[in-house]
Amino acid sequence: MAKQDDLFKNVVSHAKEYGYIFPSSEIYDGLSAVYDYAQNGVELKKNIREYWWKSMVQMHENIVGIDAAIFMHPTTWKASGHVDAFNDPLIDNKDSKKRYRADVLVEEFREKINEKIQKDVDKAQAKFGEAFDEKQFRETNPNVVRRQQQIDEITVELTRVQEENDLEGFRQLIIDLGIVCPVSGTANWTEVRQFNLMFGTKLGASADSAMDLYLRPETAQGIFVNFLNVQKTGRMKIPFGIAQTGKAFRNEIVARQFIFRMREFEQMEMQFFVKPGEEMKWYEYWKETRLKWHLSLGLGRKNYRFHDHDKLAHYANAAADIEFDFPFGFKELEGIHSRTDFDLSSHEKYSGKKLQYFDTETNTSYVPYVVETSVGLDRMFLAVFSKSLQEETLEDGSTRTVLRLPSVLAPTKAAVLPLIKRDGLPEVAKQIVEDLKWDFNVAYDEKDAVGRRYRRQDALGTPFCITVDHQTLEDQTVTIRHRDTMEQQRVAIADLRNLINEDVSMRNWLMKMK
Ligand code: ATP
Repeated sequence: MAKQDDLFKNVVSHAKEYGYIFPSSEIYDGLSAVYDYAQNGVELKKNIREYWWKSMVQMHENIVGIDAAIFMHPTTWKASGHVDAFNDPLIDNKDSKKRYRADVLVEEFREKINEKIQKDVDKAQAKFGEAFDEKQFRETNPNVVRRQQQIDEITVELTRVQEENDLEGFRQLIIDLGIVCPVSGTANWTEVRQFNLMFGTKLGASADSAMDLYLRPETAQGIFVNFLNVQKTGRMKIPFGIAQTGKAFRNEIVARQFIFRMREFEQMEMQFFVKPGEEMKWYEYWKETRLKWHLSLGLGRKNYRFHDHDKLAHYANAAADIEFDFPFGFKELEGIHSRTDFDLSSHEKYSGKKLQYFDTETNTSYVPYVVETSVGLDRMFLAVFSKSLQEETLEDGSTRTVLRLPSVLAPTKAAVLPLIKRDGLPEVAKQIVEDLKWDFNVAYDEKDAVGRRYRRQDALGTPFCITVDHQTLEDQTVTIRHRDTMEQQRVAIADLRNLINEDVSMRNWLMKMK
């Protein structure tokens, strides 16, 4: 655990020190669970957004994008169910006065049991090697069977108290499991209460005519209310999708995990409209396609897993999360939900407008079903950033910190460094920057010894360093150093553009999804 904490602290401090993420309004001591993206962070975030957008909109001829406003007519949130049901169960510990999400307390308790099972599995795997049959081990090992049974029982009761909104039962479950507050160590819990996560605000100047509004808690509803506009003006034929990225706001009860859980965050969502009855086929398709997108970034298959929802949201008939191994363990990164016709039907009811699709093949109208993919941009950022940050021991025993960002996402693609600050080398280096900047974000750095400049670019995640030396003046070649291998090559200045492009082009990275 201590190791995990250290790793996470490192991520947070590295993000600040290297200009990726700052606490919001820090000169006033910050604002809880709100963060600002700094000069490098904004580039990484923009690249992740673009990588998503291209894979969804540009690569699918039947998906288009929109950018709906954050403010929406307040009835939207009545129809979507958010006014009545967008709640989290909260519980306080009376001794520490700390507040928790009741469902998260139980889920974390359950995950700890799961980790124990995994340890036993890993141990047995190491012992028996090739001959190991994991399925059989899980079914027969008494410890594993007992623990799995405990997990199953917890899941059944957790699902029940949530579905029946049995708040007293929720509290009892926490007490029965012996869950204590990590701060006070006691089980002195208050009752469980439901808390609505939407931020309210007002539209209009005078107090009596002002209209109560909400800051949107998800971008999806901006897509649903525009379904017919897009379908008609884009002459879209089912199945088709509408994609959108943008800010969402949630008054989260507990927000202690940096940009994992923020009160203002950004989502990248796509609603895919399908013929009723075909939703499970598309649900499976999008689960697979979205996982491929994540894997194309090369952070490693073992860092992802699917988690099927035990308790389905009021709108869904199937739902799964893609979970990622964050510095604090496996947690939700993306949700894939089969939302049925809940949203469109409900908007039909509340607005009195028909939101149906006329199928020219069957000459019938119907309300389409929807499969949604929803990934948090900030969580994606944290996933990529935390896995990329590595401490390495080099052959000579020294260590280096390297941010191995997928080069397609790196904020700066190359740094151009004159070996020394005289003899005309800076002028040549600046000319290279001038030439490359039409295609890539490039940086120029002449301060400190070149070795230190390399280390700084490693820590910033820059895939290439281009060094201009005296030989450059004679033969128009430079050295190009690769961040990950630290290998250096002598290449012609004229070849730089192609060389960098080959490595960082979105086309080449997206091709890995094929
Ligand atoms: P959680 O269970 O972690 O609260 P959720 O199930 O409520 O998440 P969804 O409503 O499915 O999340 O939202 C879709 C995605 O939006 C999530 O997978 C996550 O990546 C992102 N997201 C949701 N809430 C936040 C938040 N407070 N901060 C950052 N990202 C978030």
